[in-house]
Amino acid sequence: APAETPQVVIDAHGLPYLDAKLPVKKRVADLLSRMSLAEKAGQMTQAERGAVGEGADVTAYGLGSLLSGGGSTPTPNTAEAWAKMIDGFQLRAQATRFQIPLIYGVDAVHGHNNLVGATIMPHNIGIGATRDPQLAQKTGAVTASEVRSTGVPWVFAPCLCVTRDERWGRSYESFGEDPALVKGMETIIQGLQGRADGRDLKDDDKVLATAKHFVGDGGTEYGSSTTGTYTIDQGVTKVTRQQLEAVHLAPYQTAVDRGIGTVMPSYSSLDILGDGQGPVKMHARADMINGVLKGRMGFDGFVISDWNAIDQLPGDYKAHVDTSVNAGVDMMMVPYSYKEFTATLVDEVKAGRVSEKRIDDAVSRILTQKFRLGLFEKPYADTSGAGQIGSAAHRAVARQAAAESQVLLKNSGGVLPLNKNQKVYVAGSNADDLGNQTGGWTVTWQGASGTHTQGTTILAGMRKDGDVTYSKDASAPTTGYDVGVVVVGETPYAEGVGDVGNGHDLQLSAADKAAVDKVCAAMKCAVLIVSGRPQLIGDRLGDIDALVASWLPGTEGDGVADVLYGKRPFTGQLPVTWPKSEAQLPINVGDTAYDPQFPYGWGLTTLTKVPGGGLTTLKALGVAATAAQRAGADQAGRALVTKARLIVQQQTGDGITAAFAKPFADADHLSLTGRYGAAVAELISAYRAS
Ligand code: BGC
Repeated sequence: APAETPQVVIDAHGLPYLDAKLPVKKRVADLLSRMSLAEKAGQMTQAERGAVGEGADVTAYGLGSLLSGGGSTPTPNTAEAWAKMIDGFQLRAQATRFQIPLIYGVDAVHGHNNLVGATIMPHNIGIGATRDPQLAQKTGAVTASEVRSTGVPWVFAPCLCVTRDERWGRSYESFGEDPALVKGMETIIQGLQGRADGRDLKDDDKVLATAKHFVGDGGTEYGSSTTGTYTIDQGVTKVTRQQLEAVHLAPYQTAVDRGIGTVMPSYSSLDILGDGQGPVKMHARADMINGVLKGRMGFDGFVISDWNAIDQLPGDYKAHVDTSVNAGVDMMMVPYSYKEFTATLVDEVKAGRVSEKRIDDAVSRILTQKFRLGLFEKPYADTSGAGQIGSAAHRAVARQAAAESQVLLKNSGGVLPLNKNQKVYVAGSNADDLGNQTGGWTVTWQGASGTHTQGTTILAGMRKDGDVTYSKDASAPTTGYDVGVVVVGETPYAEGVGDVGNGHDLQLSAADKAAVDKVCAAMKCAVLIVSGRPQLIGDRLGDIDALVASWLPGTEGDGVADVLYGKRPFTGQLPVTWPKSEAQLPINVGDTAYDPQFPYGWGLTTLTKVPGGGLTTLKALGVAATAAQRAGADQAGRALVTKARLIVQQQTGDGITAAFAKPFADADHLSLTGRYGAAVAELISAYRAS
């Protein structure tokens, strides 16, 4: 702890809740029995750090938590400054009657993304493309370590949204459109919180995680362009009860089973078809929060509201408070005024509209997590791991993730991988822009183009491997080159603004289209699309030799260069269906009329050929995969399915026929649910049909 902060003296012979040897349950009950109603209301409140100045109100209101919203960073934006800032607030919490530590939270959704110099991972859509649960866990562990060593014990991640319509601007925060894939990637929770790797929340390299946004955030409807309502972020999810269960709720049961510490309800409304209620805001849905999440699923952590979300509920302020607390929300993130929130909550309890029992339940849940994190024993930042922030070891994990997330959609004539003797002409808006390749939630809330942190652009990575000339707008002469690489795509956004109709669509910019046209007319070319979701490319596909979905790969452009130059094979698979046109949206695997540009699960590989190949090898793989399935040997099962995919790919080249697309996608789906033998069987029939 810094010199100006006193150490907490833990007196085991004093109050029982301070005794670390007692079970958490006993400590919680003891502390709760001593607290006033106002102190309990304070624990249920989370304020933005910018709203509390030096933190006097942390003491005065006994605030349970503070956060840094996206881009709410200390000056200078360094690890030391973060730790010092949070310790300063913690000192104010230690000045309260019971010295209840506050819990500080940040959106670390792809690394410690508010901090300059942190290791930035691919956004979730890219992690979904890796199909690699062990890697997802490793990225979580790196994030947790970098976050905790700046004094932050809590992250608002992972997003378990199942994106069903990529006009939604937050699609990039989703692991994919298939709930099975989202469930598969939830190993990231162990990376963040520990346990499976022998580490624990109490350790100095783990953090409490948040599953968000409960439930149906990825399923909101696209409004009508004729009425001018384009925005689907925070909109309405209209589903049957069966769709709600199978698509949107399923990943939450996995999160609860993995011991997720907190859950954040969605800004959106849920409209369950046929239940007669119409759309109801999630922060008001007792049936979902109390009933399904805490009741049926057995979630024992606490529910943190989204930012200002209770202020969107119908009725007056008292109604906002009663409705949300009674629905099961335990802590309010930035109620518009924390002073009015705490006062209103106390009044509503006195008036009998919120029960003390509900308050005690909420506060018990919050205190339980604070005890689990060891905050009572160690409230101040442990910066011993700060030397690892942005370290080579951490960047190596992000580099591997960037490489594995690349999806090779087309590769005519084997343009990729490049070889280092080729003269390569690089162009396009996203070849040399760290801000564009890291996307939203990077240093600032919405993210920004340009160099705002430390890392390697795709161009810089390629320069290390090959003979590269760069001309962003492709204005330099194109003669004398063997191959062109045009890196195009989106500019950053985090929330709302990314919605189609809000200044964004799924089209490449005019400048990017011109660069593609010029380079691809002049030489063999590969096009990389750096974006949070598919971009429409159908009308140019015939002119492009190789096409790569690069997603938002993060700070390690070296990882992209690795697959381009064949240091690692392309192995990524589409986490979402790639549409032909906007008119096809929403389009998802399993739809009856499914005619995409590239199907869900598609992805060529540059792995070397599987020896043997052919139907005989496929059948042998099927037998082995069935055995792996019976034994529950997931890793082996997945590897066998991957080999089988390869053989089918070799057979069919990169030509995608409708007959091939479906079983290919299904096989991938099945491989993630542990049905490996069945997956290979699907592939065998695809092979026979081809
Ligand atoms: C977002 C959440 C985020 C919160 C705090 C909200 O606007 O919807 O995902 O955790 O802000 O920054």
